[in-house]
Amino acid sequence: MQGKMKKLAMAITMATFSLNAHSAQSEADNAGHRVLKVGCEAAFAPFTYIDDKGKLIGFDLDLIRAMGKAMGYDEVVVNALPFDGLIPAIMTDNIDLIISGFTISEERAKKVDFSDPYYMCGLTMLVNKKDADRVNNIEDLEGHDVCLQIGTTGALYAQKQLQKAKLKQFNSPPDTYLELQNGGCIAALNDSPVNDFFLNNYKGNDIVSKKITTGDSEYYGIAVNKGNKELLDRLNKALSDVQKSGEFKEISMRWFGRDISDDFKQQ
Ligand code: GLN
Repeated sequence: MQGKMKKLAMAITMATFSLNAHSAQSEADNAGHRVLKVGCEAAFAPFTYIDDKGKLIGFDLDLIRAMGKAMGYDEVVVNALPFDGLIPAIMTDNIDLIISGFTISEERAKKVDFSDPYYMCGLTMLVNKKDADRVNNIEDLEGHDVCLQIGTTGALYAQKQLQKAKLKQFNSPPDTYLELQNGGCIAALNDSPVNDFFLNNYKGNDIVSKKITTGDSEYYGIAVNKGNKELLDRLNKALSDVQKSGEFKEISMRWFGRDISDDFKQQ
């Protein structure tokens, strides 16, 4: 009996050891060089996008680099992926985490675990100025073509709310804007900061923004593989550390000209 118990204990220890070895391996590329593998979509300005020079930049990437440093990583490697490929990439361990203006949702929480929220916003829609008088809220979209980004919380919301609209789904917000400009839809529905960023940088004056009363806010969080509590705890600690050190505020000022943490406090 004793011997059997010993064998069992040994087997458990071995299994734990190999699990640890596996997670340690995913963090350390070469001996001692710790790499944090981040996944994001590359067309979600101002959070994660490619600038004129082809560089992947944004609020989320500045944030995760600051957090990576606080966590002791030597390098933060960012992988640009299609939006609907982010969760599969986490589940297959190709990336350690998702940071991509990624809304915390019950549905996603079945597949991934989320960090504490770091940003809050809502949805808005962009419409052509000529339609501005007749399109004021979500109900006004019934019977029309509506542009959305595939796999997003905004798309899910429209699927639930709009029974008689034709939903045209695209890979990224810029594609929805193009379709709106070409007259292919009456509205482009996306997260408010992303629509705002487009409009603020837009040269024309034929597009306007409309608020949508959803009753719900979008809270952005960082997603990790389900059950990876160790990484999640370290991420939450790093988020709190960069908030306390003032780095979060500095990054927020750089991208938004204000401290976005204040949005939470108003709640
Ligand atoms: N916040 C939205 C979502 O999580 C859109 C995110 C994105 O397109 N990067 O679904």
